[in-house]
Amino acid sequence: MLVSEVMLQQTQATRVIEPWRRFMASLPTPSACAASPRSAVIALWGGLGYNRRAGYLHDAARVILDEFDGFVPSDPDALRRLPGVGAYTANAVASFAFGVGVGVLDTNVGRILARALVNRPLARSEAQRLADELVRGRDSAVHNQAMLDLGAQFCTAKPRCPTCPMASRCAWRAVGGPDPAQYSAAVSVRQSAFVGSDRQCRGRIIAVLRDGPSNLDALLVRIAEPRDRVERLLAALVEDGLVEHGAHAVHLVGDTREPVG
Ligand code: SF4
Repeated sequence: MLVSEVMLQQTQATRVIEPWRRFMASLPTPSACAASPRSAVIALWGGLGYNRRAGYLHDAARVILDEFDGFVPSDPDALRRLPGVGAYTANAVASFAFGVGVGVLDTNVGRILARALVNRPLARSEAQRLADELVRGRDSAVHNQAMLDLGAQFCTAKPRCPTCPMASRCAWRAVGGPDPAQYSAAVSVRQSAFVGSDRQCRGRIIAVLRDGPSNLDALLVRIAEPRDRVERLLAALVEDGLVEHGAHAVHLVGDTREPVG
């Protein structure tokens, strides 16, 4: 559950299925993940993008080993102590893996709460409090999954109210007025364009280094981007703990193979 939730951050579920299977087949436990070289964890991340998450997951496995006897904690506050785990991921793992009674609040659920419950914009803390209250006395995993599905299938940015199962109990539909979800804190901002972005270029550098270490000139040829851009992004990847830039080669952290070019 922790691996899937980290993979699902800003990534569609259909893209996660195969990498998740591959990852779990190779590194099925926190101890297996922690013992694996960083380069192998990044390689298993495949084409998922946002490779920093692979580094976070690797670090999280080490924290789980050091501080939690090798078991993923069930308490949301303890989960938030793991690298790369924020409020949403902590609550999702606590609810879906352990049945802990906390609300899982994402953009979709925030929209439902603002529209159906209160018909006014919600700050994130208030939305979380409402989400937690709604779970009380219910099967946490079933309730949270239903909320996520309702938000994804019906209470979308352009809501499908006539067919929504909540329609008869929805405050916004009953009272009307401007869409209260537009200004709610839980509503996410649009992601910047991917094509041509630094994010895309970082992913291409990682993809080249997955094949093996490379000297800088060979890397520049394969990336075909200006040297100063590649060097800036490499510095950021080094800072993120994903890449090492040695005297003779650039390589994924923990990759001890000889340079391929
Ligand atoms: S009736 Fe419309 S606004 Fe209300 S919860 Fe359903 S989809 Fe959302």
